[in-house]
Amino acid sequence: MHSTTGEFLQPISLDWDEIHTVFLDMDGTLLDLHFDNHFWLEHLPVRLAEQRGSTPAEISAYLHGRYTEMEGSLEWYCIDYWQNHLGTDLVALKHEIADRIQIRAHVERFLESLHQRGKRVVLLTNAHQKSVGLKFGYVALEQYFDRVITSHSLGLPKEHPDFWQKLTEVEAYVPQHALFIDDNLHVLRSAQGAGVKYLLAIHQPDSQLPPKDTQEFVAVECYTQLL
Ligand SMILES: [Mg+2]
Repeated sequence: MHSTTGEFLQPISLDWDEIHTVFLDMDGTLLDLHFDNHFWLEHLPVRLAEQRGSTPAEISAYLHGRYTEMEGSLEWYCIDYWQNHLGTDLVALKHEIADRIQIRAHVERFLESLHQRGKRVVLLTNAHQKSVGLKFGYVALEQYFDRVITSHSLGLPKEHPDFWQKLTEVEAYVPQHALFIDDNLHVLRSAQGAGVKYLLAIHQPDSQLPPKDTQEFVAVECYTQLL
């Protein structure tokens, strides 16, 4: 059993003096991935089936095929792409289950501590601007960031090996002095390849699913480990 309060968890020690910029992913990292998984795997199939006179199982089978083909591409993360492709208003459907948009435990305390330590704090997400806007409408997180960057504005997803170089065109940072936290191991490896020195994964991105094997990466179980 692990504690969600963090009281029995080992602190994760980082050389904070060496860290100048902190890049943070949004979904599955600061927010519970349950909302996104529930939306794409449960809610969307049900609502599309209603709209089309089909069954959720048929829609799910179709969507799974499309998700697998597209995973990791910028379009996969693009709400405009899916709205056009599926011919439905996804933002409206997301609002229907917005009570599931939840900040992970102790995130605000962690973000506050970064500011007290004088770090530059940048949200770095593959989520589309419309998804970021929707979520910021339900959770009070926006004020903690010095900058919000969506990969759509750079034209490459975070998984792409060139992403991290392209990022320097809009956000000056030194990879050796950067911390990056993300629940996606492909993205962490891409950052590692670009020389980002401090990398952390997330132990349990979706609170309704079992913890994830984060392989070579140390994972945050609770943000109290980083206070
Ligand atoms: Mg994520």
